[in-house]
Amino acid sequence: MRLVLLGPPGAGKGTQAQKLIQTYGLVHLSTGDMLRAAVAAQTPVGLKAKAIMDAGTLVPDAVVIGIISERFEAADMKKGFILDGFPRTKAQAEALDQLLATSGRKLDVAIELVVDADKLVSRVLNRALEAQKAGLPVRKDDDPDIFKTRLAAYFRDTTTVTPHYREQGLLQQVDGMASIDDVHRSILTILASVDP
Ligand code: AMP
Repeated sequence: MRLVLLGPPGAGKGTQAQKLIQTYGLVHLSTGDMLRAAVAAQTPVGLKAKAIMDAGTLVPDAVVIGIISERFEAADMKKGFILDGFPRTKAQAEALDQLLATSGRKLDVAIELVVDADKLVSRVLNRALEAQKAGLPVRKDDDPDIFKTRLAAYFRDTTTVTPHYREQGLLQQVDGMASIDDVHRSILTILASVDP
């Protein structure tokens, strides 16, 4: 199974990806997680990405495409994958098409978590409070002002990705405002109807 999870920051892509990994044993590719690891390790990519991520804007396409292209070469990719947070621009979506085509693979489905943007700010504020209460690190970019910049980046750049997959007949939409378990069930229903 090869799938892309789409939706704005705070839509629940990471949460749903975690649940799907348990069910399907897929590789979870989150460019946000990969970039945060690069920042923590102070790699050249991390050093370049840090200020951009802290500001809530998008890391250049070439950097993110480079990370994904490298990861695609690993042997575990044969198990299938969930892409979360990538592609985020039309150029990234086209690069992914290219990557898949050159390795003779294809996407099975792109699932968009459709959410009410107005409710996302309070949802992410809650995520930060919960993390704080649990003694976990709070993401700097979950600060309400930076989160608004991330949302704006989504509506400016990433809304071009959904039509890309609609045109390819791969887009499926799920109500992302439903409970975590209901969203998970809807995704499972879609995956059951997709021929892996
Ligand atoms: P996320 O964890 O997916 O919300 O990503 C956190 C941050 O990493 C984003 O606000 C961007 O700065 C950066 N980032 C993650 N994925 C991408 C991507 N595909 N393209 C550009 N920037 C990205």
